[in-house]
Amino acid sequence: MAKINPKFTDELKKYGAFDTNACYNCGHCTAVCSLSTEDDSFPREMVRFSVLGLEENLKTSLKPWLCYYCGECSETCPRQAFPGELMMTLRRWLTAKYDWTKLSGLLYKSLPVSITFFLLVIAAVIGFGSYENFDTEKIMHLGHYFEMFSIAGVFAFILLPNIIRMWYFTIVKAGVKVKFVTYFKKIWELIVHMFTQKRALGCDDNQLRWFEHLILVIGYLSLLFTTVVLDWLGTESTFIIWLGYVESAVIFVVTFIFMYERVKKSKELARHAHPSDWFFVIWLFLMGLTAFIVRIFIDVDLIENNLWMYLIHLTVLVQWALIIVPFGKWTHFLYRSFAMYFDALKKVK
Ligand code: SF4
Ligand code: SF4
Repeated sequence: MAKINPKFTDELKKYGAFDTNACYNCGHCTAVCSLSTEDDSFPREMVRFSVLGLEENLKTSLKPWLCYYCGECSETCPRQAFPGELMMTLRRWLTAKYDWTKLSGLLYKSLPVSITFFLLVIAAVIGFGSYENFDTEKIMHLGHYFEMFSIAGVFAFILLPNIIRMWYFTIVKAGVKVKFVTYFKKIWELIVHMFTQKRALGCDDNQLRWFEHLILVIGYLSLLFTTVVLDWLGTESTFIIWLGYVESAVIFVVTFIFMYERVKKSKELARHAHPSDWFFVIWLFLMGLTAFIVRIFIDVDLIENNLWMYLIHLTVLVQWALIIVPFGKWTHFLYRSFAMYFDALKKVK
């Protein structure tokens, strides 16, 4: 028998804004959602599960990840229950459930805790600079090592175990039988969705937003490669230097557009922005911008006497790598891609 948690909606509200009690179960949201199908029907089912406190049903469900937040259901809900925001809220809640460290939940639920973590990083970077006697060359060299080891460490100790937990909840606990060979046959689903997010094109009038996201993902991944593998801030290759300039410019232009849309609240998804949404877009913007300025300082021989600029970039980088990537909104990129993969596995008869 399904277990009911009567306090579930109170808990869920800590992860976002919506009003499930307003829902009178008309089903209009499911009817207007272009991504909802007979096999994968949402968001009404998710609203019902939330209202009833069916926590386990939600934890084993992939449906919150199948929504790309076009906002159509929220705009047309006759009771202003904001089902689209509920789906977003459930994604944050699920992220916290997958995370074995429990830090995701803590950061999502408490803005003061998030700010404390960000401040601790500032203190750590200043302490590190002081420990190294503000030696520019050494600090930049170690900063590059940090980029390499933080990616490997975060993936191995946080993200990989969390993906395994997600698999356990949504495949094993959900009672889905998947043949071993099917995991290999369907792996392309993971790769295609990770790099293209093509399902988002199924949302009405979403082509521009999909394109902006695609450019951002390509810009972000290629800047990561250029910085970490090609050592953009340390190289003397003209080609790599210009490549990095273009990639970082793309990131801060696209993220500036995202921030502008959020401030204007022109789209439904921008109306209920959670602090974690802001952190994601602002830090991505700052990463592109500060990397761009540091490289200019290097090229005009100003970095030696202006280490503060690199320390600002390093602070943004460490906050991004140790807070936002493992515990914040960045994980949605990963979990959504795996959700598409697991969903494809479930559908193999
Ligand atoms: S969330 Fe709104 S549209 Fe959806 S079932 Fe409830 S009242 Fe109807
Ligand atoms: S936000 Fe869009 S994709 Fe998500 S459930 Fe609502 S209508 Fe469907």
